[in-house]
Amino acid sequence: MNIIVTIKQVPDTNDVRIDPITGTLIREGVPSIVNPEDRHAVELGLSLRDEAGGGKVTVISMGPPQAEVALRQVLAMGADEAVLLSDRAFAGADTLATACTLYHAVKKIGVFDLIICGRQAIDGDTAQVGPQLAEFLNIPQVTYSVGARLENSKTLLVKRMTDVGFQTIAVPLPALVTCLKEANRPRIPTLRGCMDAYRERPFHVWDASYIGAPVDDIGLRGSPTQVRRTFQPSPRGNGFLLTGDAQDCVLRLVGLIHERGLV
Ligand SMILES: Cc1cc2nc3c(=O)[nH]c(=O)nc-3n(C[C@H](O)[C@H](O)[C@H](O)COP(=O)(O)OP(=O)(O)OC[C@H]3O[C@@H](n4cnc5c(N)ncnc54)[C@H](O)[C@@H]3O)c2cc1C
Repeated sequence: MNIIVTIKQVPDTNDVRIDPITGTLIREGVPSIVNPEDRHAVELGLSLRDEAGGGKVTVISMGPPQAEVALRQVLAMGADEAVLLSDRAFAGADTLATACTLYHAVKKIGVFDLIICGRQAIDGDTAQVGPQLAEFLNIPQVTYSVGARLENSKTLLVKRMTDVGFQTIAVPLPALVTCLKEANRPRIPTLRGCMDAYRERPFHVWDASYIGAPVDDIGLRGSPTQVRRTFQPSPRGNGFLLTGDAQDCVLRLVGLIHERGLV
């Protein structure tokens, strides 16, 4: 089974700094980690590869050269091959341009049965890249997965979380799945795994021309979403608790809403 897992390197801090000119996140020199849900996505990929009795898990990431560290960390978990998509032309990408870049990289990789993304990145927080990548590839997608198993070589059974419980969906392969942290417990890299991550496992760095990505479709140029202004929202006044009988609380709340001209 050929599985591709997308991972993002994200700032390991709440103290994010925004570039006042481009309005994009300053990543250089900021402590970074593998996006938490992407570790669960890698774990799901490794367990499906093993369940299928073999195959390959390729991990890909679009980011600055320092994103190599994140890819080596998931290679150490047991992924087979890694691709870093790094080029100044990718900088400042919004979710559409990010998905477009990943699309061209997947086309370059060629044959695959399954793509697994994390549901959401903890910095951009949009949960848009997975579904957008599936659209670019014109393949079925199942989001919010908390587990998956092969029904046969052409069908995957995916358990997904919904607002009211769980659903199990049979999806024809190739397909894309986004993964929640509830799906599994990511394995801890072994010493052997860490050594192989730097010595044995193939590691590629691809730029825009190698994957054939048109410059107008990637990076800041390919981004319909431009960050206009970033600012620290001013802290809101202290809230207060209405206590007592429910009926009475509702009446007092409605009174306050009118009093403050909120309707
Ligand atoms: C504070 C902030 C706000 C932003 N707001 C917006 C916005 O409103 N609209 C917008 O279009 N862009 C926005 N961006 C830019 C956006 O973060 C980038 O486009 C980013 O590359 C992808 O979006 P995301 O972080 O929301 O990822 P998500 O869509 O939340 O990520 C889902 C999954 O996609 C995969 N993935 C995401 N990025 C990459 C990558 N670079 N390489 C490999 N796999 C990846 C991972 O598996 C990840 O778990 C924002 C960025 C920041 C820092």
